[in-house]
Amino acid sequence: MARVAIVGDGPAGLSAALLLAKNDVETVVFAQDGTAMHHAHLFNYLGIEEIGGSEFQATARRQVTAQGAELRDAEVTTIDPADGDGFVVRTADGELHADYVILAGSKQARELAAALGVERDGRVPVDTENRTEVDRLYAVGRVVRPERSQAIISAGAGAVAALDILSREAGKDVHDWDTPPKE
Ligand SMILES: Cc1cc2nc3c(=O)[nH]c(=O)nc-3n(C[C@H](O)[C@H](O)[C@H](O)COP(=O)(O)OP(=O)(O)OC[C@H]3O[C@@H](n4cnc5c(N)ncnc54)[C@H](O)[C@@H]3O)c2cc1C
Repeated sequence: MARVAIVGDGPAGLSAALLLAKNDVETVVFAQDGTAMHHAHLFNYLGIEEIGGSEFQATARRQVTAQGAELRDAEVTTIDPADGDGFVVRTADGELHADYVILAGSKQARELAAALGVERDGRVPVDTENRTEVDRLYAVGRVVRPERSQAIISAGAGAVAALDILSREAGKDVHDWDTPPKE
């Protein structure tokens, strides 16, 4: 099974991590809990009447680790194409080889995107599946829409990228659908 590295642990990165890990993809999220969500109080996230951003984040972090994703407390310093397929993701403590990378960060992630040649005028253009111009490199959330950022849009974009990776790995379109437990 593929390994996915996600740069950023806001709603975008954690939403992608949730779907990937739930479907048994090895998923490593790099970030240091520095999301803007800690400054937010949400009344506009459909299905949740009101929630503090920090409480939202704590729940989301528990959810993704319960599904098997690893949260790695580190800043990504560089990402380079690997010899052969995939990417080498580096932090001050070491490096990880990943088959796919999802850029789900904010300002710092734009610098990584620029080094990979996919940043244009302060944002990262993506297609409808959140693919960038580089194969197997995705961008979601604030790095794509810096001026029109909402938590629910970031979470949706993370899910779009995850479903695209799951579909590519399966060689067919994939849903992640569950049904109520039987009585
Ligand atoms: C004051 C305030 C109030 C807000 N109120 C609302 C609201 O009421 N409703 C609403 O929907 N939205 C609100 N927002 C916006 C909401 O916080 C954002 O839409 C949301 O956080 C975007 O999620 P994201 O995952 O795209 O990016 P972010 O939450 O910005 O997460 C990006 C993460 O990536 C990390 N990162 C970046 N680069 C690297 C790197 N190189 N290595 C490792 N980690 C990296 C960052 O540290 C950060 O943790 C508010 C924002 C602010 C500031």
